[in-house]
Amino acid sequence: MNYDAYFRGALDALRADGNYRVFAELERHRGAFPRATRHGPGHREEVTVWCSNDYLGMGQHPDVLAAMHGALDRCGAGAGGTRNISGTTHDHVLLERELADLHAKEAALLFTSGYVSNWAALGTLASKIPGCVVLSDELNHASMIEGIRHSRAQKVIWRHNDLADLEAKLAALPANAPKLIAFESVYSMDGDIAPIEGICDLADRYGAMTYLDEVHAVGLYGPRGGGIAEREGLMHRLTVIEGTLGKAYGVVGGYIAASADLVDFVRSFASGFIFTTALPPAVAAGAAASVRHLKQSGAERAAHQARVADVRARLDAAGIPHIDNPSHIIPVMVGDAAKCKYISDVLMRDWGIYIQPINYPTVPKGTERLRITPSPVHTAEDIDRLIAALGALWTQCRLSRQPMAAQ
Ligand SMILES: *Cc1c(COP(=O)(O)O)cnc(C)c1O
Repeated sequence: MNYDAYFRGALDALRADGNYRVFAELERHRGAFPRATRHGPGHREEVTVWCSNDYLGMGQHPDVLAAMHGALDRCGAGAGGTRNISGTTHDHVLLERELADLHAKEAALLFTSGYVSNWAALGTLASKIPGCVVLSDELNHASMIEGIRHSRAQKVIWRHNDLADLEAKLAALPANAPKLIAFESVYSMDGDIAPIEGICDLADRYGAMTYLDEVHAVGLYGPRGGGIAEREGLMHRLTVIEGTLGKAYGVVGGYIAASADLVDFVRSFASGFIFTTALPPAVAAGAAASVRHLKQSGAERAAHQARVADVRARLDAAGIPHIDNPSHIIPVMVGDAAKCKYISDVLMRDWGIYIQPINYPTVPKGTERLRITPSPVHTAEDIDRLIAALGALWTQCRLSRQPMAAQ
């Protein structure tokens, strides 16, 4: 077999479908985010990033950077191995205490990313509990889907955020079967929010555990940044809360928070926890500083919500369609893969605005969009420019009957 020819063929098929992923090569600047330098072949230019998941700009917060510099100078670069082999560093333990406290749980466990935390925790729970059935929301993130798949447990998919469908599916299972309901709070592409209380009620009624991915909510909602479940006073009703340290907290890493027994169980059985090098101590220290800061400061959350409201109001005034949802994610709907890519390209080329186009298979065909994530570090001038650019492109694309990519 000509292996490279095979790889090229598969990539050509992706290109033909318009699904080939092109990365923007950006260099973020401390103290200047959302400004970044874009590196291209033989040129570089300044861009404003409007699609980052560093939702609050914590990736450049002085407390976070000081904690990281301090730990780097104190401990050196890496953790030196897995937690088991090379010793669990003090910074990891402190961070887990911060996270358990954040979610008012007995314990927390750190993973190298949010993806790994979902994959390892769901995979371990579902595979090690005999006869466990996982009830998974149909729009769950790939990391949850892969974890459930890896577990080989029976999986039942319920309609997105649909309590009646979840109840029907719970009722159809044997009463004594162990059950795990897996879902998210804020869904990242539509920005809608799960009916957490209703799901917890059903879990109680049918004897199920609950596993809530709060990746797009931790740091951003609740009086201490504990997420939607904290805001709604529901944290104690969830079996497992999972989060990331890479989005609103601005660093990297993932975690679960739960009972001491459940956390010790995952720590003891999850291959994806045991057999991989722990995060660098500097990362753990930076993340802990970020979590700590956002527990006692609501200023970033308030500014974030205000900026989101500003952008939505300006889009409305300009007649640019976006999904009206109760979160901070603003999906501006284009509804055409070629136009979506074209608009993104022109925003970058002519306006110095970076917004990644979101096309199939990330979202269904016909719902192609620009996913805008305003942050407290975007200025009023940034918003003016964004709206002017989108307005111009909207007019242009509506006038044109041809796929914009042809131009
Ligand atoms: C990004 C994301 C993850 C993975 O988190 P990382 O820390 O980026 O690996 C998990 N769940 C959802 C819903 C996400 O959007």
